[in-house]
Amino acid sequence: MVDGHNDLFIHYFDCKSCPRGLTDYRIDTLNSGHTDIPRMRKGGVGGVLLNIFGRERTEQSYMGAWTLLRQIEKDYGSDLKIVKSSSEMKSAFKEGKIALLPSLEGAVRLGENLELINKYYNLGLRSVTFAYSTNLLADGSDDTTKYNGISTFGKEMVAEMNKLGVLIDMSHISAKAMDDILATSKAPVIFSHSNARTLCDVNRNVPDSILKKLKENRGMIMLTFVPYFVKKEHMQWLDEGDALYYKTLNDYPDDSLKMESIMTRWENSEPMVTVADMADHFDYVKKLIGVDHIGMAGDYDGIQFTIKGLEDVSCYPNLLEELAKRGWKEDELRKITSENFLRVFKEVEKQAFAIQKTKP
Ligand SMILES: [Zn+2]
Repeated sequence: MVDGHNDLFIHYFDCKSCPRGLTDYRIDTLNSGHTDIPRMRKGGVGGVLLNIFGRERTEQSYMGAWTLLRQIEKDYGSDLKIVKSSSEMKSAFKEGKIALLPSLEGAVRLGENLELINKYYNLGLRSVTFAYSTNLLADGSDDTTKYNGISTFGKEMVAEMNKLGVLIDMSHISAKAMDDILATSKAPVIFSHSNARTLCDVNRNVPDSILKKLKENRGMIMLTFVPYFVKKEHMQWLDEGDALYYKTLNDYPDDSLKMESIMTRWENSEPMVTVADMADHFDYVKKLIGVDHIGMAGDYDGIQFTIKGLEDVSCYPNLLEELAKRGWKEDELRKITSENFLRVFKEVEKQAFAIQKTKP
């Protein structure tokens, strides 16, 4: 299977003791996070859109992240392989290696012109989340509305990504921005990690009207195992926890014991989100737009809470089993695990080739 989004790099660049190197956080043995090679093998992982990011937003820091990526491939070469095309991804499958497809969450690292996207494309970047928070390209899903969709520069970026053959990822952007990109892009687009808004009404999820346009666009949504994007109750519980934390801080400013006891009580009241709840999103989207537009995304290492039964990269089979019990056929499961993604990626490449022929 191909996972739409993984944040392994958090353990090197965004933790208490970060930045640190490969020897400080190994992935060839069971580690404390969600992602390592033994568990990826157990989970049947064949490829992953790996979020490449450094500690700071500078270009230098970003280059450091690419150095780490190359180091990972060098040190774990018998298991992992960096890929830059759909055919390279297929070859990696055949070699029995896990394909790492470099992706970027938050185009703020692309700066204010088209130079960096070209530079990073040459490094191997093949998928970009258009905006995380509102940036120069588009409005974020939970941020201020600046353009009511995407900016003029955003439109230029869509055209450039179409021309290069970079997957445009619409997770994290506002619904209007999704609509704008769907009206602009000449190639299929993806949601690398989002769910259906009808089942869980949060801004990060995708409305039905957009899902229907996604079908026309021939793109796909990689449904994500993030409990607070699966069930609204979980998001409400998180919001309550936030409010409770600040209220306690205000009521008992110097009482850390009181804070701990109150927050522990809150944590113990976490609403349970199950594999069945996750499967509901798969059933729903399949019914609405068909099985050809669905994929899977763990968002592992990027989330603090997990779904019961989908705790780490070894768990994908639990979801497939649930879907099989619900009547999903083997060919449908093949599509959502990897075939749909390979089809979309290939179409993006083909479209880029066609554009390059007319606009060298
Ligand atoms: Zn994300």
